[in-house]
Amino acid sequence: MTPIEVKDNKSYFANLPIEELASKYGTPTYLYDAAIIEKKYKQLREAFKVKINIKYAAKALSNISVLKFMKKLGAGLDTVSIQEVELGLQAGFSPEEIIYTPNCVSIEEVSAAVDKGVIINIDNIPLLEQFGHKYGSSVPVCIRINPHIMAGGNYEISTGHIDSKFGISIHQMRHVQRVIQHTKLDVKGLHMHTGSDILDVDVFLRGAEILFEIAEDFPDLNFIDLGSGFKVSYWNDDNTTDVAELGKKLSERFKVFCSSYGRDLELFFEPGKYLVSEAGLFIAKANVVKQTTATVFVGLDTGMNHLLRPKLYNAHHEVSNVSYPQGIERIYSVVGYICESDTLAADRKLNEVNEGDLIAFHNAGAYGMSMASNYNSRFRPAEVLIYKGKDYLIRKREDMEDITRNMIAVDL
Ligand SMILES: *Cc1c(COP(=O)(O)O)cnc(C)c1O
Repeated sequence: MTPIEVKDNKSYFANLPIEELASKYGTPTYLYDAAIIEKKYKQLREAFKVKINIKYAAKALSNISVLKFMKKLGAGLDTVSIQEVELGLQAGFSPEEIIYTPNCVSIEEVSAAVDKGVIINIDNIPLLEQFGHKYGSSVPVCIRINPHIMAGGNYEISTGHIDSKFGISIHQMRHVQRVIQHTKLDVKGLHMHTGSDILDVDVFLRGAEILFEIAEDFPDLNFIDLGSGFKVSYWNDDNTTDVAELGKKLSERFKVFCSSYGRDLELFFEPGKYLVSEAGLFIAKANVVKQTTATVFVGLDTGMNHLLRPKLYNAHHEVSNVSYPQGIERIYSVVGYICESDTLAADRKLNEVNEGDLIAFHNAGAYGMSMASNYNSRFRPAEVLIYKGKDYLIRKREDMEDITRNMIAVDL
């Protein structure tokens, strides 16, 4: 979980006093600690005995400065839209370092990605056919497989199950081979991404096993991409994927696979959450503390427009009162200012909240800002990246011009 340090009744994030960051940048603001991103990156890399290729999933947190930092760490990039491809290129990634894994896109968008020179990953047979007819063996391709394993406990964020729209079913491999034979497609990679929150290392291994088995029918592979699914600790004492155990078991299994395949392939992963979730703290101000007959609400100067995960997935974010970390504890429902029931955290113990206090959401690095919207015509928050004791503004808070930029006021 995202650490806040309390010294002399003052709260610190990445060794900087949070209240001072709030007065400097205003609220609400997303704060990111680059040291945590670096720590997580190294943890994952060092867990494996074989060399792994970490493709950071840009959609988790797509600020260009974060992408540049990932590049500096040595990561590649996993992208899900042509716009993320562009962003990755602007951040300094070379096309070969970027994998493009869209779903339900047109052949035109895929062609635009081909023109950029990135690795193309295809997730349905009709598109594979179109791709084959258009490019034949001239452009290498990766195929996204759905191994039908149920990842984690949440159906919404699991993508490997039978009802999922993602990937080509393992039961359709015969059809895939027909398409390849007729179009001479050059398949260089096999991919799976079964969704977030796989806790059990053995579930991961089962998925890998399925991919290794299928790989025997694809003689020209360069890489196997096992996607993501690393579970992150959102609660104080939550379980996380045991990356050390996964790394150890999977490295051994991968070596055996490579020797039976006949040559050493590259092993890709696409972590998003794992790298950035813990690095993010989202701070907002308590506008009102409102006693009703049923509860005490803390109403913030933010809402589901800036942090959608609680509403979208029933996700849990730990919450802290940054201003009075030593106050007595009371029970609150922390809600937003949006005209919806946008409860961000229900029935939480917080150090007594007064109007004007700073409230922080932990684990806000992944799918926080990248899912933010302008609903209720609110401005999207600022983002600040902290590196070696220095804070850098990496996105300005929006203003009225951002709200009206593409609107056209017509008189009828
Ligand atoms: C979203 C996504 C990821 C990252 O998932 P996390 O749970 O954030 O690690 C990886 N690969 C693909 C294809 C994705 O769509």
